Amino acid sequence: MEAVGLNRKMMEVREMADAKGFSAREERVWEMLALIHTEVSEATDAYKKGAVLEKVGEELIDAIIRILHLLSALGVDAEELYQKKMAKNRARPYRYGTVRGG
Ligand SMILES: [Mg+2]
Repeated sequence: MEAVGLNRKMMEVREMADAKGFSAREERVWEMLALIHTEVSEATDAYKKGAVLEKVGEELIDAIIRILHLLSALGVDAEELYQKKMAKNRARPYRYGTVRGG
């Protein structure tokens, strides 16, 4: 896996998490998924309560960090997945899959 783009950030997060004693073992995957939700909830709550937008952003960065940690635990090439998914999204029509709302 090439250390570029998201992979570089994923490796950085994994190195820090390992150093701080946070396991990335397979049995933690369910827990790691749940913890991503907690950070999004914290961002939602901060926004709802009128916190400064930097606080909302900080919670979203927490979510990104947890997602990168989980991607490292899954052993996937995050940059490759990102590039493939972005290409797929770019090829979709305007307001793809949206009839109401969104
Ligand atoms: Mg947080």
